Amino acid sequence: MKYIATIGLEVHVQLKTRSKMFCACSVEFGAAPNTHTCPVCLGLPGALPVMNHEALRMTVLTGLMLDCEIAPISKFDRKNYFYPDMPKNYQISQYDMPLCANGRVPLHDLAYPKDAQKNIATPDKEVHLVRIHLEEDVAKSFHFETSTGIDFNRAGTPLMEIVTQPEINSPEEAFAFLTSLKQILIYGGVSDADMEKGQLRCDCNVSVRPEKQAELGAKIEIKNMNSISGVRRALAFEIQRQTEALERGEKLQQETRGWDDAAGETFVMRTKESAHDYRYFPDPDLVPVKSEVLLADARARVPELPKAKRARFIEQYQITPYDAGVLADDVDLARYFETAAKGAKKPKNVANWILNDLQSALSTSGKTINDCPIPPEALDELVNLIESGKISGKQGKEVFAEMFSSGKGAAAIVKEKGIEQLSDTSAIEKFCDEVIAANPKPVADFKAGNAASLNFLKGQVMKLSKGKANPQLAGEILERKLRS
Ligand SMILES: [Zn+2]
Repeated sequence: MKYIATIGLEVHVQLKTRSKMFCACSVEFGAAPNTHTCPVCLGLPGALPVMNHEALRMTVLTGLMLDCEIAPISKFDRKNYFYPDMPKNYQISQYDMPLCANGRVPLHDLAYPKDAQKNIATPDKEVHLVRIHLEEDVAKSFHFETSTGIDFNRAGTPLMEIVTQPEINSPEEAFAFLTSLKQILIYGGVSDADMEKGQLRCDCNVSVRPEKQAELGAKIEIKNMNSISGVRRALAFEIQRQTEALERGEKLQQETRGWDDAAGETFVMRTKESAHDYRYFPDPDLVPVKSEVLLADARARVPELPKAKRARFIEQYQITPYDAGVLADDVDLARYFETAAKGAKKPKNVANWILNDLQSALSTSGKTINDCPIPPEALDELVNLIESGKISGKQGKEVFAEMFSSGKGAAAIVKEKGIEQLSDTSAIEKFCDEVIAANPKPVADFKAGNAASLNFLKGQVMKLSKGKANPQLAGEILERKLRS
């Protein structure tokens, strides 16, 4: 029997504001525990929340980027539960009137795991969203050997919750969804979405059912995933586990599971319990929010999104869809390319240098495009030197390596090292004459029809010119002389 997996994700994204959602405390990551706190985010009695308008604008901006409907009016509610990392005994969230509804995330081929890119089940798939709402993050617990510590620095950080429709069908699609979403969030500047820093966290709902069965299987939730590759592995494990259980004739129960990354398996956290009743009610300290003003500001901040950028790169710069995909993958890399390609005769060559030599030099040296020692204009200069025939492609590699290590300009290095390519025809003619005179046997061979001898003779010209002769010109002149 064939089984189908149905996956829905709930993604929590920390917004990149300077201060917290309802107080002026900093959201800086990595500060000493409990140094960014105040009565509001510690939940002390009588403290009053004040809305962070930038967080509202960023959520609306996210909604616009993901094609959501923005609610004209939204409000904040109290979600009541008792937990040590939330001392007011409620979390301020949005319940029935969230800021954004519906929307979608387009999945791009390159967003799939590398090993799955050749075998994409549904190319150009879009995953639809249910809603995006805004809430406050809770504090973070640290479990020590005999005690638990709570750090309230995180408490009150603006947090967006993005909920998908259950229409993801494989671990690879979940991977592509998170990668595509993360890219858009970074493009919009709303979050750095760094999963290692907990800026993007994910709960996965996954159920498996026989293909012929219409209703969904038991919903099993995997909590608190903190890496995209972990999500893929956890889902693969869980789909396999559920399928095997169904094949044995077991009945699966709704439950919440955790993921043990080291062991590579999920484990039961709690089994089906009566659904939580959080007793949501509107927070009386916060007035409802009108979106009108937020919208005007957010609209002006919608950037060109990855999909549009890829299409424009292909059209404007005549580069391949694959190259456009890799360049647009990283908004900083895309910016670098555009700056370098602006003055280039053949932007395709600029793209090649970035995607091959530059990226490999960056990864070898552990640098990113943001601290690249070669400014984009300098790369353009190098490409132009090669295109105009001043230096050969091979010499270009040498100049590139020097540019990368010293930060000097291409023309300056060419001048300094005297590696300019010799394109002066009369000088090359002289070298050719010398070579022809000194090598009667290969010359005779060529004239007798052995074409390979030309390469030998060309090699001699290059040697004589100490590698400076323009190889193409040398070949042309030699051949002309030998045939005359
Ligand atoms: Zn505070």
